Amino acid sequence: QEDLFKKIISHCKEYGFVFPSSEIYDGLGAVYDYGQYGVELKNNIKSLWWKSMTLLHDNVVGIDSAIFMHPRIWQASGHVDAFNDPLIDNKDSKKRYRADVLIEDYLAKIEDKIEKEVAKAAKRFGDSFNAQLYRETNPRILGYLEEYQATQKEFTRALTEGDLEGVRQIIIDKKIVCPISGTANWTEVRQFNLMFATEMGSTAEGASKIYLRPETAQGIFVNYLNVQKTGRMKLPFGIAQIGKAFRNEIVARQFIFRMREFEQMEMQFFVTPGEEMKWFEYWKKSRMAFHKSLGMGDQKYRFHDHEKLAHYANAATDIEFEMPFGFKEVEGIHSRTDYDLRRHEEYSGKKLRYFDATTEESYVPYVVETSIGVDRLFLSIMCGAYCEEKTDNGEIRTVLRLPAALAPIKLAVLPLVRKDGLDEKAKAVVRDLRFDFTCQYDEKDSIGKRYRRQDAIGTPYCITIDNQTMEDDTVTIRDRDTMEQHRVAIADLRKEIMAKVDM
Ligand code: ATP
Repeated sequence: QEDLFKKIISHCKEYGFVFPSSEIYDGLGAVYDYGQYGVELKNNIKSLWWKSMTLLHDNVVGIDSAIFMHPRIWQASGHVDAFNDPLIDNKDSKKRYRADVLIEDYLAKIEDKIEKEVAKAAKRFGDSFNAQLYRETNPRILGYLEEYQATQKEFTRALTEGDLEGVRQIIIDKKIVCPISGTANWTEVRQFNLMFATEMGSTAEGASKIYLRPETAQGIFVNYLNVQKTGRMKLPFGIAQIGKAFRNEIVARQFIFRMREFEQMEMQFFVTPGEEMKWFEYWKKSRMAFHKSLGMGDQKYRFHDHEKLAHYANAATDIEFEMPFGFKEVEGIHSRTDYDLRRHEEYSGKKLRYFDATTEESYVPYVVETSIGVDRLFLSIMCGAYCEEKTDNGEIRTVLRLPAALAPIKLAVLPLVRKDGLDEKAKAVVRDLRFDFTCQYDEKDSIGKRYRRQDAIGTPYCITIDNQTMEDDTVTIRDRDTMEQHRVAIADLRKEIMAKVDM
């Protein structure tokens, strides 16, 4: 699986999807650039999400707020005081880790052990095996479970109370070692704030410290009343936004899974207090349906409900995708109560009440949010789509089985040979279709090689202009996944392809 992930990373680079940032200067940690095909795929992902939010719901509208915001916003939101990760260094390897991640990895290992025990027993007992009963009665599993729960309880306590020594103690007690040095020679745990800061204005006129936003959500909260009033919105309604966010992540690894500059697609849904759980369930379902509609395989997704809730939330779940390195969070769905709006009332001194004309009451709405990283969704789609398969003639074909609507190039137009007017004809087809969807003209190398190149970037359809085209204005159209071909009239191409690639 690790090999597979490495292959996907190099595929992304080799085929112009994702490049390390500042590569000729040896790169910049956890920052990446999107190449010619990557940007098309990314734009399509954003467009699909945007449409699924704003077109499919008559009560969700979009905004685009600035990255720079008043510094007090981050005090109100709690980010200045609490957007921290607990850091710990290993004295031998001099490597820095997130203390919470070390403990979470330890817990995940216990979960693994339990699953392995159950799988072993299932094999031994065959059809009559009752996994539930086995989990509840097997002494070894109960032992693991007890260890898991006790550690988690102490971990939650230490984190919520900000007891950093307590966090360290867990690492020591559980004999968690540094993966590099193999030793448990740890420093104390310190808090590290993830926000990037810079200065606005020149020093002469008194520069002030401002932050690069670590999430897009706050831009929505501070604009909620602007949108509600100018759009005459009635509860429940939502505001969607796509934009860059910045976090000074300590452990930057796993390619574009955890970046320091990334993009979020967030939607805050404002509801009447008391109705938040209904909407939380609604958005859980709706968002899962979105993911499954991408066709990567339903079994690749699961919910992970949070037991440990952030101070502002009364319910939270993650949608996880099975990456080559395990099930990982791609999207978070949170019921955030009225925490944010109330804090902004307090810090700004402005009322953020909604006037409900039916009850003639004013109140601060509750919020259910869906929050997803564009780059993580991109990665999940890349991982789900990447496929190596043996063809009939024994060759290995690398194909990106991207949903047609997301593919960077929808149609490749390939003249069989570069003579007898075939190339001119092909170019004319491209000229005719390029306003409807992305087309690519390619005349270089053998037709087989050209098909492979299109497979590797996920182009769902290739058409070949051959001698027959010159006689009857028909072309062969090849399907990426089945590699089957059939003939169609050039005049019908637009309709046929549109029906398959339209979002
Ligand atoms: P994690 O636990 O992985 O750090 P989080 O719970 O802090 O993520 P949220 O603050 O809920 O994440 O952000 C919402 C979404 O934004 C995440 O589900 C993820 O898709 C995306 N995201 C968050 N941090 C990053 C990052 N450093 N790089 C890329 N995407 C990110």
